[in-house]
Amino acid sequence: MTTTHNILVIGASGQLGTELTAALAETYGNNSVIAADVQETPQNLPYRFETLNVLDREKLQQIVGQNNIQEIYLLAALLSARGEQNPMLAWQVNMDGLLYVLELAKEGKIKRVFWPSSIAVFGATTPKDQTPQETITSPNTMYGITKLAGERLCAYYASKFGVDVCSLRYPGLVGYKALPGGGTTDFAVEIYHKALEDKAYTCFLQEHTRLPLMYMADAVAATLKLMQAPAGQIRVRSSYNVAGFSASPGEIAKAIRHQMPDFSISYAPDFRQQIADSWPDSISDEPARHDWGWQPQYDLQAMTRDMLENLAKQK
Ligand code: NAD
Repeated sequence: MTTTHNILVIGASGQLGTELTAALAETYGNNSVIAADVQETPQNLPYRFETLNVLDREKLQQIVGQNNIQEIYLLAALLSARGEQNPMLAWQVNMDGLLYVLELAKEGKIKRVFWPSSIAVFGATTPKDQTPQETITSPNTMYGITKLAGERLCAYYASKFGVDVCSLRYPGLVGYKALPGGGTTDFAVEIYHKALEDKAYTCFLQEHTRLPLMYMADAVAATLKLMQAPAGQIRVRSSYNVAGFSASPGEIAKAIRHQMPDFSISYAPDFRQQIADSWPDSISDEPARHDWGWQPQYDLQAMTRDMLENLAKQK
């Protein structure tokens, strides 16, 4: 008997989806992965692509049924900055998409769900340093509100209906393969592109605003590790804190200058400063380390070396 491991990634064309889908295809085989997104398909993917609006419940059910899908990675979302520009749409995409997928799992049509939360669930009254797993969650963005409500939905479906749902509260993700999609930590990606293009960057946050960040290779590794863990090890069914490292724009600029001494940075904070000010400086991820062995590999220096080296090859 052959065991199948068919996976559907929704929101596969985004910053995280581009890298996570490729890693899933590498791990389980190109024929086991279907990438789906509301955006046009990128050319020459080694795995299948379906155009899908996650709000089209009928098409979602069809894709799952016709392809014997066992796992869904639901990445489709409007992020923090885009969510503030269109709060109604953020609520619809972020909440209804999740409900439809959780219902599929409740009905036994899929076995396991991955859905990412975010450090945006925290807020101005949350302890800022080494923010613990269980703490005050008081988001003040529509994005953060949908992520907090989503976490409670995940925990509810897990305890009430036995749904096997796994989630991580990602910090700001930094990678070189895809551009970010409208979040508050986009600066931490843009800065590397601008360093190579113009040797200068104007940051939309202040110099000393420290935020939790994670290199994309670590985010992909954490996701695969959690999704491969036996259900009994996954004690937190709302969403796990996971940390990489913390850095401010000024500290990233310093790390870049280490390799490019003529790089310069200036600061012109916009509406995203207020969002960043409400988020933690650093995250404690003790339960993720204890329950399923989370351990990040990249710090600011290692990430900066890798970003500059790989982006330079693309230019
Ligand atoms: P992104 O904006 O780069 O990608 C999201 C993708 O979802 C896009 O390709 C978009 O076309 C797609 N999408 C949007 N609406 C859709 C719909 N109705 N139907 C189908 N697809 C739709 O975002 P990302 O950075 O890749 O984030 C992926 C997930 O990770 C999100 O849930 C996000 O909240 C979470 N997350 C990301 C970060 C980060 O720093 N990037 C941090 C914390 C959490």
